[in-house]
Amino acid sequence: MRHNLTVLGATGTIGVNTLDVVSRHPDKFRVIALTGQNQIDKLAQQCRQFHPRYAVVLDDDKAGALRALLAGGETEVLAGLEALEFVSALPEVDSVMAAIVGAAGLRPALAAARAGKRVLLANKETLVMAGRFFMEAVKEHGATLLPIDSEHNAVFQSMPAGYDGNPSTHGVRRILLTASGGPFRTRELATLKDITPEEAVAHPNWVMGRKISVDSATMMNKGLEVIEARWLFNARPDQIEVVIHPQSIIHSMVEYLDGSVLAQLSNPDMRTPIAHSLAYPERVEAGVNWLDLARIGTLTFENPDLRRFPCLGLAYQALAAGGAAPAILNAANEEVVAAFLDRRIPYLSIAATLDGVLQRLSGQPADSLDDLMAADGLARVAARELIAGADVCRA
Ligand code: NDP
Ligand code: MG
Repeated sequence: MRHNLTVLGATGTIGVNTLDVVSRHPDKFRVIALTGQNQIDKLAQQCRQFHPRYAVVLDDDKAGALRALLAGGETEVLAGLEALEFVSALPEVDSVMAAIVGAAGLRPALAAARAGKRVLLANKETLVMAGRFFMEAVKEHGATLLPIDSEHNAVFQSMPAGYDGNPSTHGVRRILLTASGGPFRTRELATLKDITPEEAVAHPNWVMGRKISVDSATMMNKGLEVIEARWLFNARPDQIEVVIHPQSIIHSMVEYLDGSVLAQLSNPDMRTPIAHSLAYPERVEAGVNWLDLARIGTLTFENPDLRRFPCLGLAYQALAAGGAAPAILNAANEEVVAAFLDRRIPYLSIAATLDGVLQRLSGQPADSLDDLMAADGLARVAARELIAGADVCRA
């Protein structure tokens, strides 16, 4: 029987890679719904290729444009956040690929979890913002959560079968998250202030969306991933360690009490974790190049330097503070990354602004999802104020 899919964020990097894997296995997967935001032509083309029952965009104007492009076809076009939630919870859907970028991905991913779906989670911001509530929803509604983020997918594959979210009962000592170190790993510290958006989005190993590319350059991405790992594997912060591995061949590791370390290796191509989660527990061909270790030759490792990557330290701080701090960090980060990409702030102001927002907003309540959404809103306001202030820009 074919597996029915909704792909949230189909027009993005993860969405396109997902559809590439799906297109290789028409006997195994069927697309029920695709969603996008601005790239209407691309979404229309995807609808013509995959014939989903629904296509969803956020606003009515874009929906009108998409309807015109798909006139006479079998795809019904819907608009709005509720429509994203609707296609995430459809009874005929088995799996939901959650690949919207940023906090906007939370509600549709939560709708999928509450509908008991198999959630293929790329949107790490969901766990950073609301990890406790999301994991509770997964448990309460019998959903299955499979990580798409390459590091977490590697950890998942390296964990013992039947891992129940308790490291100590499985002899797990540490999770080692690998990080490429991004484009600025060896750049002269004195020149970090001159970094341009073009330099920041040019990742040495991965092709990704603009936001996550900047996050990789600052290593905020790894910080968000530490928080993501905390929730996915129920690990304490001191059980999650980051190691820089510039070749991006080992995607992460699990260390056991007996000294064994298990790792997952592959070429840096997101189709591997995507295919793993789409077919789990089976394996399907993903279209990737086979790993040629002799050609790669050398795998190297180093510790991250927090002077070079202060955002990683800020993420550990937010995780230790708990409560609303990770949601605040996540929302403020979205604002500062957008400001950096628009050339409204220099590179070094990214971490300085985030530090300022975290200090300003300590102790916000986090007893409900509404509290976290409120903290998200306050963080955006605080970040915009600091971005507008000259002090941070000079920091
Ligand atoms: P992209 O920016 O390439 O794609 C984002 C997708 O979300 C697009 O389909 C976009 O639509 C849609 N979108 C953007 N904003 C909204 C919104 N407000 N409401 C609804 N839809 C929206 O991002 P990536 O594919 O790179 O990343 C997606 C997620 O996966 C992120 O959370 C990222 O952290 C995570 N991830 C990505 C990896 C990668 O290799 N790319 C690796 C690991 C995790 P449109 O383009 O039509 O405007
Ligand atoms: Mg990752």
